[in-house]
Amino acid sequence: MEAVVEMRVGVVGCAGRMGRMLVRELVDREDCVLAGGTERPESPAIGRDIGELAGTGFLDLKVGDDPALLFADCEAVLDFTSPEATAAHAGLAAQGVVAHIIGTTGLGKAEDEAIKRAARHTAIVRAANMSLGINVLLALTEQVARTLGDDYDIEILEMHHRDKVDAPSGTALALGQAAAEGRGVALDKVARNSREGHIGARRRGDIGFAALRGGDVVGDHTVIFAGDGERIELTHLCASRQLFARGAVRAALWSRGKPPGLYGMRDVLGLG
Ligand code: NAD
Repeated sequence: MEAVVEMRVGVVGCAGRMGRMLVRELVDREDCVLAGGTERPESPAIGRDIGELAGTGFLDLKVGDDPALLFADCEAVLDFTSPEATAAHAGLAAQGVVAHIIGTTGLGKAEDEAIKRAARHTAIVRAANMSLGINVLLALTEQVARTLGDDYDIEILEMHHRDKVDAPSGTALALGQAAAEGRGVALDKVARNSREGHIGARRRGDIGFAALRGGDVVGDHTVIFAGDGERIELTHLCASRQLFARGAVRAALWSRGKPPGLYGMRDVLGLG
């Protein structure tokens, strides 16, 4: 039997909360090998051992500050950094035809465009949430929204840890997008991101968002379908960031040999 060659995978932002989790996930696996990691140039982590930072023990791999070098040495790069950094990394992925697995959220229009351009040249998997459960929830949300129609008001509630900088979460927006697709409407026409003061009654067909922040909550999401006399609530509670890291590595392995394109976790997990 032909031996499977381990996939060389890099981690940009390897000193971040997710970055360290990704390093631990890669080190534990036999089908991939950690090729290296980078941090932003002014990070105090530059030059430190990646394994010691991630708590896996010494790996003899130093945190670098040159993503071009890392992309040149990898088949896939995992990216949970910042929107600006992710857009720049997508350009490097396109240049080197390296798979780019993007978990970063809070991207603006310009960054979205940069990723779409890069995806003409290489395989990019992008997901606001890489857990299996959330991707099942996305599929269910679309299906329930399609079945119930706008007699049922949709509200999306999320809670995250106190350090999260963007709101609503990328996952909440993805759930809103799934609900809007189910109803055949454009999310930006019906999204209500906050309510305060005397704002009048709820508009039929709106999709509302509410964001709570506090403690060390990894990520809770509930989609509420509120009708007359009944309410359906679909909830996903994430207890560990490991779920996202496992999903990202699964996406990297899936991307092997895939033609250029922008993919999502539904493609990776075969959810259609
Ligand atoms: P974090 O702040 O702990 O980590 C981000 C890291 O990226 C930091 O160490 C930072 O220094 C580094 N970074 C910034 N710019 C860089 C650059 N140019 N080059 C290299 N490194 C750079 O944040 P976090 O909690 O790990 O989350 C990171 C992102 O991932 C956020 O957008 C978050 O919402 C998202 N996230 C997504 C998922 C998912 O499943 N898709 C799960 C968790 C978090």
